[in-house]
Amino acid sequence: MAVGKTRPSRLIIDRSAIYQNVKEAVDRLDDRTELFMVVKANGYGHGAVETAQAAIKAGATGLCVAILDEALELRTAGFTVPILVLGITAPQHAAIMTGHQISATVGDVEWLRQAKDTLAKAGVEEPLHVHMALDTGMGRIGLQDPADLGAAVTLMTEDPAFDFEGIFTHFATADSADTAYFEEQLARWHAFMAVLEKRPRYVHVSNSATSIWHAVCNGNIIRYGVAGYGLNPSGGELTVPYQLHPAMSLTSQLVYVKKIAAGRSISYGATYTASEDEWIGTLPIGYADGYERRLQGFHVLVDGQFCEIVGRICMDQLMIRLPREYPVGTKVTMVGTDQGQRISLQDVATYCDTIHYEIACGFTARLPRDYRN
Ligand SMILES: *Cc1c(COP(=O)(O)O)cnc(C)c1O
Repeated sequence: MAVGKTRPSRLIIDRSAIYQNVKEAVDRLDDRTELFMVVKANGYGHGAVETAQAAIKAGATGLCVAILDEALELRTAGFTVPILVLGITAPQHAAIMTGHQISATVGDVEWLRQAKDTLAKAGVEEPLHVHMALDTGMGRIGLQDPADLGAAVTLMTEDPAFDFEGIFTHFATADSADTAYFEEQLARWHAFMAVLEKRPRYVHVSNSATSIWHAVCNGNIIRYGVAGYGLNPSGGELTVPYQLHPAMSLTSQLVYVKKIAAGRSISYGATYTASEDEWIGTLPIGYADGYERRLQGFHVLVDGQFCEIVGRICMDQLMIRLPREYPVGTKVTMVGTDQGQRISLQDVATYCDTIHYEIACGFTARLPRDYRN
């Protein structure tokens, strides 16, 4: 994918915001608890390598990703801290994981058997670091029944092919005001822990939301994701009791400005018709950049003023209505602040009827990421 460097649309990533969010989270932890920064999906769109650098500088001692390729990207970039792949990796890739000291998530005993076979065939001698996933109610991956834990633990602890490094679960509703389901999951977690004779080095249950609103059960690592990027994990449902610093903004520039007469229409489908003579600006960004087509009718900031997006958003361009004539090259803020006015990722997500996570990681590789400190 060609990156649009010659085009003035940019994601601006404030590394010092990530640093601050992580530093403040680390400072709140007791000294037995570590923070692993979650940098899956290219660091939620912020850049995996750049995010990992800022997070480690701020005190993160490990990294989590979703897929093996993301872990390999980090190793290639030179990171030596523990890296955990949170999703299921095909057991056939076990030797690559040991070769790069990448920890695998295990969902069942069968996976262990297959990984063991792969390692034996490849003649690998170092153990594969494994974290056992427990499904306490997320319904995604992991053992569902504490009765199945014993056999898995026996294999992981007694077989030299493995180093039983961690055990974890993931909460489905930690970001919700209603805690009933969370309590159910927590009870199941305790039932699992009750059959575990010896705890592995890492015991972890907390994503950002759990670490913020249910810190009592942190275990000894928190898997810190969205809040590290400065976003409230609950959207707006719960208040974060401290300040988060959003790291991502999106800016562009007017590349074409014209006056249209009343009655003229704008963009595909001619869905917008000017009711009077109007100034219209064109921005070089569209849904191919992850600026969703559903954002028609939403607004951007020009000179501290909210300007409506008029007509359909195209693949590479969109049009806005200006309050007056502005020159080509005028800055446009699509996410971020301009003269005291603000458009947050949450505002964009709310308009699209989704969550800020999806907006942040939906910005495509065509948008350059510019890093500020
Ligand atoms: C993505 C993910 C996290 C991070 O979640 P945030 O809500 O971004 O903090 C933690 N744990 C697991 C298993 C995940 O998949």
